[in-house]
Amino acid sequence: MILRENLSDERLKAWLLDERQRLENQLKDFGTADPETVPPGEVGYGNHPADYGTEVFEQEKELSLRHYAEDLIEQINAALGRFEQGTYGLCTHCGRPIETERLQALPYVELCIECATQMSTR
Ligand SMILES: [Zn+2]
Repeated sequence: MILRENLSDERLKAWLLDERQRLENQLKDFGTADPETVPPGEVGYGNHPADYGTEVFEQEKELSLRHYAEDLIEQINAALGRFEQGTYGLCTHCGRPIETERLQALPYVELCIECATQMSTR
């Protein structure tokens, strides 16, 4: 992972590209996992027998993992776009530089800690 001492924007960019590749591979794996076994109307909560419940749980788990991966890819693409525009590391909301520690932990983050806190408490 990222070493604090040697951190540079180039390194973060490389990390983002790697991470996107990893997530895309993950999505490809999901894609081969027989999506037709999940009729959209039949996944839900209720009084199902235990074995059916487990199956639904597995499907929902995969679905949420897939959404999570897609969501991350979007954030990564947005971050890479900010590299192109030279605005990487700036909060997309207030335009101030995002805390270095925060960027190191989440290289695709787009809000500074202040804006993120404000939005999550709204
Ligand atoms: Zn901000």
